[in-house]
Formats: sequence, structure tokens, C-alpha cells
Amino acid sequence: PSKSPRSYTITLLPGDGIGPEVISVAKDVLLLAGSLEGIKYDFRERLIGGAALDATGVPLPDETLSAAKESDAVLLGAVGGYKWDNNEKHLKPETALLGLRKELQVFANLRPASVFPQLVDASTLKREVAEGVDLMVVRELTGGIYFGKPRGFDTNENGEEIGFNTEIYAAHEIDRIAHAAFKIARKRSGKLCSVDKANVLEASMLWRKRVTAIAQEYPDVELSHMYVDNASMQLIRNPKQFDTIVTNNIFGDILSDEASMITGSIGMLPSASLGASGPGLFEPIHGSAPDIAGQDKANPFATVLSAAMLLKYGLEEEKAAQRIENAVLDTLNRGFRTGDIYSTGTKLVGCKQLGEEIMKSVESNV
Ligand code: ATP
Ligand code: MG
Repeated sequence: PSKSPRSYTITLLPGDGIGPEVISVAKDVLLLAGSLEGIKYDFRERLIGGAALDATGVPLPDETLSAAKESDAVLLGAVGGYKWDNNEKHLKPETALLGLRKELQVFANLRPASVFPQLVDASTLKREVAEGVDLMVVRELTGGIYFGKPRGFDTNENGEEIGFNTEIYAAHEIDRIAHAAFKIARKRSGKLCSVDKANVLEASMLWRKRVTAIAQEYPDVELSHMYVDNASMQLIRNPKQFDTIVTNNIFGDILSDEASMITGSIGMLPSASLGASGPGLFEPIHGSAPDIAGQDKANPFATVLSAAMLLKYGLEEEKAAQRIENAVLDTLNRGFRTGDIYSTGTKLVGCKQLGEEIMKSVESNV
């Protein structure tokens, strides 16, 4: 839907809690980095989550959904908070996220986990192990055991209660996530590790077969396979051996949370969810942090880095993305920190001021 190749419509969904604070910073940074690369934006801000529930009675209004679908990319803050915790299940702010992902048909969830040299002490791992970690988990998001049928509760032949689920992957579902992962690995260091349980599960056997076949189309990417139990151990033992990891929905859910703990800084971690065509969804992995909302204490880096992913993976604007990534490193190098990543000897600032410092770094582009 772009008016011209260098002009993009971006839907902004600030949401709840610290969402509006971090989105405001990310919007300014996107604008500046874009303008330095000749990019124009048409920003459309819409309601989602608790904010939408209060204003319209539903967490994901049709109007928000249609705006998102018609844009080139969607940047989301966070949804939820204490205020809506006792709501009926289908009206919970969090259901807006599931609805949005489903409607945008984003089947590839990208979760980078990078240990910034300036923040290595925040890692849960020893310095020698954590230093230099820079990996990406590509999780299949719309298939597998979370959606497979039959599922439900029943009683077995002994009259005992049972709960059951089904892991199903069709070849085309594996193929499309594999293609996405190979392309991402190619943009990174050219190493892809596919994680499965092909020694036990048929869905994993098919997974391994398809991924191996598709590798023929990417001779420049070095493919390896690992069983998920080993991968979860290797992530803690020696995370530096990984660059890009591709895996199914449930293994990716677990491994991406494990990987994020390696960095130890939830306020620094972005994510992207991509489909075959159509807009991608970009958001920080942290929640709405109601405990610090409205106090100018939020760390905007995760959302700013999500904006960089929006440029890189959503719009193929790699130069502008690189400007933002450089600016984040430069701002850290100049010592500016919000409370969650503060350590003695660094400069404690609020969300707004950190935003201004990031802008200065974008401008000077070191
Ligand atoms: P979710 O909403 O994903 O279920 P949650 O509500 O348990 O997760 P968060 O909202 O991410 O978790 O907050 C967890 C903790 O991390 C809180 O103490 C919060 O203040 C802190 N936190 C989260 N994001 C940030 C941020 N961007 N800056 C500073 N602190 C943050
Ligand atoms: Mg939350």
C-alpha cells in the first residue's frame, strides 16, 4: 500500500502502561533516522488493549485492525495492566495481541538476544560465557501443538480424566518458516541451527526433512540440526555457538524466553512477527510494566530496537535500521541508563531524556 517506494504508512499502537511512553520515543527516532535516509512516513495512531476496551468496549476494535492491515508495518507498545485483570476472559486486553497476530497472519516470530558489551554484568551467565552473545530465535508462530486438532478433555477406557493435544505441521507451514529463517541467517552471519525432536516426534521428522531439502536453495547458509533438549543445554553452556535458530511453536516459546534471560535486560529486547506478505508486527518483548507506568522510568531501548527491526525486516530499509542500532550502542557508550539497567558510574535518566540522547546519537551517526 505504499504511495512510493520510499514512503511508508506505519500504524502505531501505544496500548497501555509504559506503552505510550516508549512508543513516543521510538516514533521520534524512526522519524529522524528515516529523514536522514530520505524516508517519509504516514503515522496512524490507533487504540489497542485496555485503552481500547475503555474507549470502545473491545480490546481490538475493527478500526484498529483495518488500519493495521492496510499499513506497511505495525509498531506496538504493550497491553494490559492491573485495572483490567478481573475482566471476562474474551475481553482481556491481552486477547488483542492474539487477534492481531492471527489477522495479520504473521507466522514467523523473530526474537534476537544480544548481550550488549556495556551491559554484560546484567547477564545471568558468567562474563566469559555471556560476552559477545548475539543470536536470533526464529519461532514458528501459527501452527504446531498450540493449534493442532484434536485437542480437549475426555475420559480414557478406565474412566480416568485425560487432557490431550496434537502436534501437526503441514509441509507448507514448515517450508515457509524455513525460507524465512534462511533469509534471516543470510542477513546475519550465515549460520542456521534447526532445533527439533526428530528422534521421537513425527512432526519433527517432517520438519527436519523439509528444512534439509530447502537448504539446497541456500548454499551460502551453513545448516545444522540439534535436538531441543540439547539446544536448551547448549544455550546456557555456550550460547556463542549460535547465530540463527529456527524452531517450532512450542520449542520456540521456551527457547526464546531462555535466550532472553542470557541478556538479563528485559528492557533491551525487541521482537518482530512476519508473514508472507502484508505488514509485520514489531514490539518489545516486555509487558506494560504497570508498576512504573506514567513515571518516566521506562526503558525505551527495546521499542527503539523494535523500530530498527521494522526498518530492517519490515521495510528492507537496512541503512536507516543500522543508524538506529549504532545510536543505541553510542547512547550506551556515552553512559546513559534508565533505572532497570543502571549501574554505578553511569548516568541515570528518564525515558524522555534517554530518547533525546538516542536522537543525538542518530544525528551524529558514529
Ligand atoms: P507480560 O505483560 O508480558 O505478561 P509482566 O507483566 O509479568 O509480563 P512486564 O510488564 O514486562 O512483565 O514487567 C516485568 C518487570 O520488568 C516489571 O517490574 C517492570 O517494571 C519491568 N520492566 C518491564 N519492561 C520495562 C522497561 N521497558 N523499562 C523498565 N522496566 C521494565
Ligand atoms: Mg504485563
